[in-house]
Amino acid sequence: MTTTVSIENLGLFIDGQWRVKRTTSDVLNKYTQQVIAKISVAEEQDVRDAVTAAKQAITKSFHPYERYAVLKNAAEGLRERLEELATILAEEVGKPISESRGEVERAALTLEISAEEAKRIHGEGVPVESAPGSENRQAFTRRVPVGVVAAITPFNVPLNLVCHKVGPALAAGNSVVLKPAEVTPVSAIMLTEIFEKAGLPVGRLNVVTGAGPKIGNWLLGNDDVDMFTFTGSPKIGRLIKEKAGLRKVALELGNNSATIVHKDADIEQSATLVAQKSFNNAGQVCISVQRVYVHEDIYESFLIKMKDVTNSFVVGDPKNEATSIGPMIAEKEAVRVENWVNEAIKEGANVETGGKRDGVFYEPTILSNVNNDMKVCREEVFGPVVAVSTYNDVDDVIARVNDSEYGLQAGLFTNDLAFAMKAANQIEVGGLIINDTSGYRVDHMPYGGVKKSGSGKEGPKYAIEEMTEERIVVFNL
Ligand code: NAD
Repeated sequence: MTTTVSIENLGLFIDGQWRVKRTTSDVLNKYTQQVIAKISVAEEQDVRDAVTAAKQAITKSFHPYERYAVLKNAAEGLRERLEELATILAEEVGKPISESRGEVERAALTLEISAEEAKRIHGEGVPVESAPGSENRQAFTRRVPVGVVAAITPFNVPLNLVCHKVGPALAAGNSVVLKPAEVTPVSAIMLTEIFEKAGLPVGRLNVVTGAGPKIGNWLLGNDDVDMFTFTGSPKIGRLIKEKAGLRKVALELGNNSATIVHKDADIEQSATLVAQKSFNNAGQVCISVQRVYVHEDIYESFLIKMKDVTNSFVVGDPKNEATSIGPMIAEKEAVRVENWVNEAIKEGANVETGGKRDGVFYEPTILSNVNNDMKVCREEVFGPVVAVSTYNDVDDVIARVNDSEYGLQAGLFTNDLAFAMKAANQIEVGGLIINDTSGYRVDHMPYGGVKKSGSGKEGPKYAIEEMTEERIVVFNL
């Protein structure tokens, strides 16, 4: 494993130049709580300059084959620095090193898929001549870039989720102003260095770091930003939507993901996958399994297996190869999770395993005897806590899954085709995963939620649709 970054002041990236600011904020190693880097804090003029650079860059040609080459180069650049980037993710997020390597590999793939999609952006012929009076007309559509895209990203997957915005935005011919999460910006800054070396034209990617509310407001107040693509909490998502006015907005927000385990499920497989996907990245994943509904016929054996798997997880130093659960992003978040679990216990929940906090760590915790009114079921926990309950009727369990303000993804373990189809028709989510958990995702699939989980899809092909406008060209021949 390579060593950590030395403490240095990382700059903003504006119009192809690194701009180091006097005012900085510390980025902590989430396990040791030591400072690993200082990031420059952008002022209003920096944000204005970043948007101006992005706007000017669009006036210069950047052909699809050039976008393809740059994105491919950047994907390779990520692969070359895999170990270094994985170490940074382990430090700045507290994500176990094996998961961190997985994130870097996925980020490279996201850019590679974006590169491929850059060459496939196309419109279609429109048969306008079929309308009376239009006999002599012919038409086709084109997809044109929206312009300047402001990308605002969360802490939990700080490299791949940046790639999910920057990759498609560049592939579509846009310019980007990126605002990464202030607690995990180092991997995004390294990605920017990689793009610089990959031959990205000046001004196509600009990075402004600092506090979310200030930078967010300056971006939202700048009419030269044409679109906002945001991944983060519903609270901030709503605020962005309200302030964006008539501009395009794509929102990837939270969830309290449910997974159903039916009576015909493979208990060993389902309990193992549910345990893994409840606790990876310490539960700080938007599609983490949070609510598990198990058919009463298999509940006891499922719970025994799930507890066994959970108790085998090593909690500790994210850079230790054996670790599967690291610290939470901040102690205040671990305290919040502790409070929610204690509240559930007062309301009647049982702790099957876990339930204790040690500083920034919260034990992987399984709760039973829960109901949908408890905060641990109703809200997004975003921590290593999963609530397991039983059902005996498929209509009832579908209603309980849908009894949520969120709708990102859900999982269903069954080989009962009728139940699977009923769930596919009735569960209110952006994605339903059969014979796996809500936590399944590959990077080229359409990904995005309904209800409070947001609007718009990611996955490069789908994000490109969000980040382009459809223009019709009609010929009067
Ligand atoms: P957050 O909403 O606190 O922050 C996200 C980003 O918004 C950060 O860059 C932050 O600096 C910025 N921000 C903060 N205030 C702002 C403001 N007033 N205006 C503009 N930007 C502002 O979210 P987080 O804690 O970093 O991430 C956790 C949340 O992200 C969870 O709800 C999780 O479910 C969600 N998430 C969703 C997906 C998805 O694809 N649906 C993926 C990952 C995370």
